[in-house]
Amino acid sequence: MKADRKSEGTPRRKGPLSARPRTGSAAKPAAVSACPDCGASYRNGRWTWTRAPASATRRKCPACRRIHLRDAGGFVTLTGPFLVSHRDEILGLVKSREARQKAEHPLERIIAIEPQGEGLVVSTTEAHLANAIARALRDAFDGKMQINPGERPLRARWHR
Ligand SMILES: [Zn+2]
Repeated sequence: MKADRKSEGTPRRKGPLSARPRTGSAAKPAAVSACPDCGASYRNGRWTWTRAPASATRRKCPACRRIHLRDAGGFVTLTGPFLVSHRDEILGLVKSREARQKAEHPLERIIAIEPQGEGLVVSTTEAHLANAIARALRDAFDGKMQINPGERPLRARWHR
């Protein structure tokens, strides 16, 4: 009789089978992705306008996602008689401020410029751009500016 099964109840060895080297994270290749909508590319933890290699993963950037969802990080409300009489000039400044900001910070963009009564509302992807636009308007044309810096989404106002 061979009922004497010594192996019974022997715990399975949890040997060092899973002993993978845990070091070497420095050698991890940087993931590069490219936004199919705007062409911005992501590498080393940030989005830039550097052209991505063809092998890059396609992934929508946060700015294009926000534009698509109309999920604004900031608003600037423009009002006043001066706005009505100088609309083109003011819009020109708003757009050139965006262009400047966007060149350096790809995620800072205007989502829309929409009429509201006799005024305009500029919505932006990031609060910082709304802030920058309101300040640029005040610097260029005087008028009254209101910003509550901690507010999210930021709601800046400019009136003249
Ligand atoms: Zn994009």
